[in-house]
Amino acid sequence: MDYRIGSGYDIHKLEENRKLIIGGIEIPYEKGFLAHSDGDVLIHSIIDALLGAVALGDIGTHFPDNDEKYKNIKSSILLKKTLDLIKTHKYKIINLDTNIIAQKPKLSPYIEDMRNNLAFLTNLNKNQISIKAKTNEQMDAVGECKAIEANCVVLLKKIEY
Ligand SMILES: [Zn+2]
Repeated sequence: MDYRIGSGYDIHKLEENRKLIIGGIEIPYEKGFLAHSDGDVLIHSIIDALLGAVALGDIGTHFPDNDEKYKNIKSSILLKKTLDLIKTHKYKIINLDTNIIAQKPKLSPYIEDMRNNLAFLTNLNKNQISIKAKTNEQMDAVGECKAIEANCVVLLKKIEY
């Protein structure tokens, strides 16, 4: 049996007059992500974990942020493309475990929506997708509400025929 583990990390700066989209869910807040795409830190960390598990580089290699093609692109589309890539390498996801670190806004009311959306995007059961949210205890850029961070660990298994 062939298992692979991957880890992913991302951080994006918060700016006024931007949408805040995490896990594909729009969250009402006075600020949103400054990024080339929609800046969805959670999905970006998942993409990096998936690519890392199969040793295929990172999100920047596959979807360069200086490429106009990816300007303001929905991260869920990038996730779909990554899942296709994982599949062509004959791997499937066993589970993924993630953390979102945000001082504000309070994310707990949106966690179930994010899990449902990720289950839909990945074709997994909700019990294979874990999302945990925490603050940064007021410390550093995240704690000062200047950025939001996310990280992910994923386990893949070779598809057997
Ligand atoms: Zn990102």
